[in-house]
Amino acid sequence: MIIKEIKVKEVITKSNLPVCDYSANAYVGCEHACKYCYASFMKRFTNHEENWGQFIDVKYWDKIKNPEKYHGKEIFISSVTDPYQPCEEKYKRTQALLEELKNSGAKLSIATKSDLILRDLELIKSFPNARVSWSINTLDENFKNDMDKGVSIERRFNAMKIFHDNEIRTTCFISPIFPGITDVKAIIEKAKDKCNLIWLENLNLRGTFKYAILNYIKQKHPHLVSLYDEIYNKGSNLYWENLDKELQSFAKKQGLEYKTNDDSFAKPFEAKPVIVNYFYHSKIKKSAQKNH
Ligand code: SF4
Repeated sequence: MIIKEIKVKEVITKSNLPVCDYSANAYVGCEHACKYCYASFMKRFTNHEENWGQFIDVKYWDKIKNPEKYHGKEIFISSVTDPYQPCEEKYKRTQALLEELKNSGAKLSIATKSDLILRDLELIKSFPNARVSWSINTLDENFKNDMDKGVSIERRFNAMKIFHDNEIRTTCFISPIFPGITDVKAIIEKAKDKCNLIWLENLNLRGTFKYAILNYIKQKHPHLVSLYDEIYNKGSNLYWENLDKELQSFAKKQGLEYKTNDDSFAKPFEAKPVIVNYFYHSKIKKSAQKNH
């Protein structure tokens, strides 16, 4: 891992993501090295030769002037890195960002694959209506280890539960859903008493990682090759349409609301989750949402 400390002018930038006004990334690069990471395009923009997951730039910025200007604004932490990846333990740049924004009245939305965020629970709690989301796309730790270097699924659920018990809004982001691998119903069963929003997003294969993922399927799940070919080479939507129907009736049996692309993200804390299906969001909103 190549770690560099860099000086930047600002850490918060205007965002065109659908769920926020601004985004803030205290690092460039991400140690979690997810095989399907959409943020890996950052490599090109920042002139990194190393592979995605093998470099980190630790940002130091000019102190945020007038943090009050973010009052009532949604700040997304983070759009192209994991704010609580392992190096945060040493460099604490995400913590520094939160400290600078404390009392500003900004609305935080934080996405991670880590439980290091527990360290900052009290700080996050001091923000009005903060939301924290964990990406979980499997209950199988072996598959998780094949896909990312985040903490175990068990540790993500434990952290989610602690935030939920503290009445901080939590999201279980079931993403990306791998056809034939991700058991969405089993994840919902496990998440439903720990979060108040469950977001579903299908695996989109584009860019450089398409080849890597299809190759992985060939090596590790050869019985799924024809399914992936149908979806990702021939463009069939049938798998998602069937899963959508199946999940609708599953949600009904569980007594959970099931919606498509709604405003649940903004709702205040509730004990019970709403399930929101974003399977077709790429057709609806051009800009991608969070990829953690
Ligand atoms: S998907 Fe998120 S956690 Fe994974 S490598 Fe990309 S930025 Fe990091």
